[in-house]
Amino acid sequence: MSGCRVERSSHGPFQRLSFLRATAMGVAQMSVYRVGDTLIDTGGTPIGPDLVAALATDPPRRIVLTHQHEDHVGNVPLLKRHFGDVPVYAPRQHVGIIASTSRVPDYRAFFWGHPEPTEDLIPYESGTEFDTGDAVLDAVLTPGHTPHHIALVATVAGVRYALTGDLYTSKPLEAWYESAADDMAASLRRLLPGAAMMPLVVLPTHGRVKDDGVSLLGDAADWLDREADRVRRAAAESGSSSHRTLAQVLYSHLGPDLTDACSGGEISRAAFVRSVREPVRALPATLPT
Ligand SMILES: [Zn+2]
Repeated sequence: MSGCRVERSSHGPFQRLSFLRATAMGVAQMSVYRVGDTLIDTGGTPIGPDLVAALATDPPRRIVLTHQHEDHVGNVPLLKRHFGDVPVYAPRQHVGIIASTSRVPDYRAFFWGHPEPTEDLIPYESGTEFDTGDAVLDAVLTPGHTPHHIALVATVAGVRYALTGDLYTSKPLEAWYESAADDMAASLRRLLPGAAMMPLVVLPTHGRVKDDGVSLLGDAADWLDREADRVRRAAAESGSSSHRTLAQVLYSHLGPDLTDACSGGEISRAAFVRSVREPVRALPATLPT
């Protein structure tokens, strides 16, 4: 065991396994989801032994990955060693990245661990349907957090469930350096139910499950649109081409950007400003300047 606390919760046909690991810098939390015979995402390598133990009585027969980051893909080889050569599906454009990434920056390794690379991935596309036995998952292209990110959506008994991976965040100003603000707003709206009055449950990797998904995602998209307008106006007024300088102008009243300092710029307000002015639509991305 790696000493995680594991919290299980059920949401319609989905079971969430949330792993909480104490670190010197607070609790690192990440979750995976189980529905029918399928596991969605695998967490990072620090939770590997706890994940294997949690799945041991009913191993998955298929794994679907939402995107390439280490806290989602890190344990694929470990699970295959324990549970056999189950098919593992990854977004087509992320397959090569997952196969070749064994190191991440130190601060990411501290929280999520270095991933164990894996090559036997089956590429999948937006529009793919995975019939898990308990629900049919629809793969929905949802870039914004990172290009080619995919969310998995199912409607069961009149309720829509969205496994949002890392698309939705409650702290949008702590933006990831592979972000695109306009794509993110469009992706959030793409997950809203087409039918009026249908509830939406948001099942994210990090943070709590949200039963008020319709207002939550709609409000988040509206906030992004408004803030993007503010960034563009400030850029026009200042004449500065530096995302970092503009972030200072716009957000210095919030105090120092601590995540910027800790992450070497990968998670930062400057990355948010860049996500508006120069949205990232291809990988690899550079750091904001
Ligand atoms: Zn991510």
